[in-house]
Amino acid sequence: MSENVYDLFVIGAGSGGVRAGRMAAGFGAKVAVAESRYLGGTCVNVGCVPKKLFSYAAHYGEGFHDAQGFGWRSEAPHFDWPTLRDNKTKEIERLNGIYQRLLENAGAEIIHGHASIKGPGEVQVGETTYRAKKILLAVGGWPFVPDIPGKEHAITSNEVFYLDTLPSHMTIVGGGYIATEFASILQGLGVKITQIYRRDLFLRGFDSELRQQLADEMTQRGIELLFNENVTAIEPSDDGYRLTLENGGSMETGLVLYATGRKPAIDGLGLNNTKVKVDKGGYIVADRLFQTDEPNVYALGDATGGAELTPVALAEGMSLARRLFDNDNRPLDYHLIPTAIFSQPNLATVGLSEDASKEQGIDIAVYTSKFSHLKHTLSGNPSKTLLKLIVDKQSDKVIGAHMLGDEAGEIIQGLAVAIKAGATKADFDSTIGIHPTVAEEFVTMREPSR
Ligand code: NDP
Repeated sequence: MSENVYDLFVIGAGSGGVRAGRMAAGFGAKVAVAESRYLGGTCVNVGCVPKKLFSYAAHYGEGFHDAQGFGWRSEAPHFDWPTLRDNKTKEIERLNGIYQRLLENAGAEIIHGHASIKGPGEVQVGETTYRAKKILLAVGGWPFVPDIPGKEHAITSNEVFYLDTLPSHMTIVGGGYIATEFASILQGLGVKITQIYRRDLFLRGFDSELRQQLADEMTQRGIELLFNENVTAIEPSDDGYRLTLENGGSMETGLVLYATGRKPAIDGLGLNNTKVKVDKGGYIVADRLFQTDEPNVYALGDATGGAELTPVALAEGMSLARRLFDNDNRPLDYHLIPTAIFSQPNLATVGLSEDASKEQGIDIAVYTSKFSHLKHTLSGNPSKTLLKLIVDKQSDKVIGAHMLGDEAGEIIQGLAVAIKAGATKADFDSTIGIHPTVAEEFVTMREPSR
C-alpha cells in the first residue's frame, strides 16, 4: 500500500486523462496518472498526430504532379517509406517527452503500469495499491475487428504506422474516419487501394452530397471503392491474402487494414469491483458531469462514447478538473462540434447536414458552390472544391457548413465560431471576402441552389 492518498487518480494518459490530471494538479490537487502503454494516448501515438503527418506526406505526392503546370521540372519523385515512418516515430517520441514534462511540471505523478480499481478509493498498479479520494477513468478505445475467420491476419490503425514495408496493394475495410483517411493517405504514398464498405456510400452521417463528391474524387485518384460489400474471411496466399467477399467471389491483396470502429479499453479495469455500469456497446456509462454509478468514480473521453474526438476529450478533462477542484460547475456544451476527415481532398463539417435538417423537419435553404480551385487552372488537376451552407429559412441562421477541398478543416474551424455565435446568412453576406481564396466563396453564395 502506498503512503500517499491522492485527490485524483487518473487511469489513462491520453488526451482527456492528461488534460484532467494536469489541470487538477494546477488547481493544487494531489494527482497521479497511471498509464500502461504510451503517454499521449491514441491521438499522439497511433492517431491524429502521426495520421496528419502521413496525410501531409501523401499531399506532397500530388503537389509534385500539380507543380509541373507551374513550370517546375524534376526527376520523377521517389517516395521512401522508412524515412517517413522513422521521422514520424522520432517526432512522436519527442511528443511523449513533452507529455511527461507537462504532467511533471504541473506536479502530477506518473505511474507506469496497468491500473485497475480494487475497491472504493483503491487502485492497484502492479504490486502497489494506491488510495485516492476520486478516480477518473480515461482509458480510451482500442480497434475493433469483427469476428470473421482469419481476422488475426488483418492489421489495424495500431500497426499501420509501423509497417516494415508498404505493399503494392492494400485493402481497407470500413467506411468511417480511419478507413477513408488511410485509403487517401496510402494511395497518396503510392499504394494501390481497394476500400470495402458494407453500405451504399461511406461516411454515414456526413452530408450526402459531400460523401458522393469525395467518392468521385477518390475514384478519380485511382482508389477502388467497393460499396455494398464486405469481407467474410481472410486467408494467407502466395502474395499476401485472399479475401472472401460477401457477395460471392474473392480477391487477392497484399495487406488488409480493418478500420471498423473502436471499442472502449475496459478490460482488466476492475469495473466488477465497482457499481460502474457499461452499456451494450461496452461504453462506460457516465452522466453529463462525468459521474459514473460509483460514487467518486468519473469517466470521460472515448471510453464513454459520444463524439470520439480528441478536442472533445480535452474539453471534458478541463471541465471535470474545473468542477472538482476549481468550483466551476458549468456543464460542457456539446452543440456544434466541428470535425474533419483528412481524406484527399479534406472533408470538414459543422452543424447539420442537408439530410439531417430535412429529417428534423427544418425548412431550409441550401447554398452550394462547386468549382475548380484557382491553383488547378494551371495544375490541370481535375479535383473540384465543394462548399455548402444550410440555412434555417425561418431564422436565417446558418445551421450547417460543409466543405470538401484543400484545407477544409482549417476553414470550417473558423466558420464554426461564427455558426456557434449564431451567424445568419445575412451576416455571411455582409462579410467581405479575402480575394482570391477558396473560403471567400462562403460569403459570396447569393442564390440558394434549392
Ligand atoms: P467509425 O465509427 O468512424 O467507422 C467505422 C466504420 O466501420 C463504419 O463505416 C461502419 O459501418 C464500419 N463497420 C462497423 N462494424 C463493421 C463490421 N462488422 N463489418 C464491416 N464494417 C463495419 O470508426 P473508425 O474506426 O474509422 O474511427 C474510430 C473513431 O475515431 C471515429 O468514430 C472518430 O470519432 C475517431 N477518429 C477521428 C478522426 C478525425 O477526427 N479526423 C480520425 C480518425 C478517427 P456503418 O457505417 O455501417 O456503421
